[in-house]
Amino acid sequence: MMEMTLLKDIKQYTKEWKASLRDRLNGQAATIYIIQIGDNEASNRYVRNKIKDCEEVGIEAICIKLPAEVTTEDVQEVMVKNYMADPEAAMMVQLPVPAHIDLDKVIAAIPEKGDVDGMKPLSKFKPCTPLGIMKYLEHCEYDLPGKNVTIIGRSDIVGKPLAQMMTDADATVTLCHSKTKSLWLHVETADLIVSAVGKRGILNCYAIHKPVIDVGINFDENGKLCGDCINTEGRDVTPVPGGVGLLTRCALLENIVRMVEER
Ligand code: NAD
Repeated sequence: MMEMTLLKDIKQYTKEWKASLRDRLNGQAATIYIIQIGDNEASNRYVRNKIKDCEEVGIEAICIKLPAEVTTEDVQEVMVKNYMADPEAAMMVQLPVPAHIDLDKVIAAIPEKGDVDGMKPLSKFKPCTPLGIMKYLEHCEYDLPGKNVTIIGRSDIVGKPLAQMMTDADATVTLCHSKTKSLWLHVETADLIVSAVGKRGILNCYAIHKPVIDVGINFDENGKLCGDCINTEGRDVTPVPGGVGLLTRCALLENIVRMVEER
């Protein structure tokens, strides 16, 4: 098995992944409704990217943008109405939602077979960021069985499901979080590290000679997008931007195409 290198061209990989999805879809009708609540600037950008990605693969993406003041019941009503009009369509909710919205109730209104973002607790679709990472490791021919993987961050959308997926792939996983003592110890003993914290500098790669998957999204002092890792020059670390974000975007398309293939 080859040495791990995460420095393969993720852009090229996701380009090829999208082309293969377009082939698999082969002109079959596919629609996703993206429910966006409020006018969050980052969400606007993410939704624009999703629509563009979908277009590239031949998927129709419809954003339903609701004003920030809507109630949870209003959102549920819109979702049910869309489901009734198009029961074969996928549906996802763009996060974050305003604080007054009951996210659990909104997620409950996502149709089971269209939950391509893997938001429902027992969804048959895997959450997109962990799925994207697992596909990428497969592409890199990374041999997970028996490896020690340290994941930093235990969110329901990244850390926890990724820990489960890597455990299922026979890795030995340590899931670290804000209460973890001696984080450095877990970093030192790992063969592979995943940082999903959202704090620039949580990992100083100057002293780390292991591959790192950087999930974090932060902004540096100049307002430039960056990950959790610093001092990454010459290290085997996925870039931000142009890394996990691209994989996550492709994984959503993968789930939509799978939904079409299974209907
Ligand atoms: P979150 O924001 O819900 O939680 C952060 C996690 O980090 C928590 O589990 C917390 O315990 C842990 N943490 C905080 N401080 C810590 C410390 N000092 N030491 C160890 N652990 C600590 O997590 P999330 O939603 O998974 O997001 C994490 C980051 O990943 C954010 O920057 C987010 O924007 C980014 N993200 C990126 C993508 C992508 O596609 N690139 C997708 C999802 C999330």
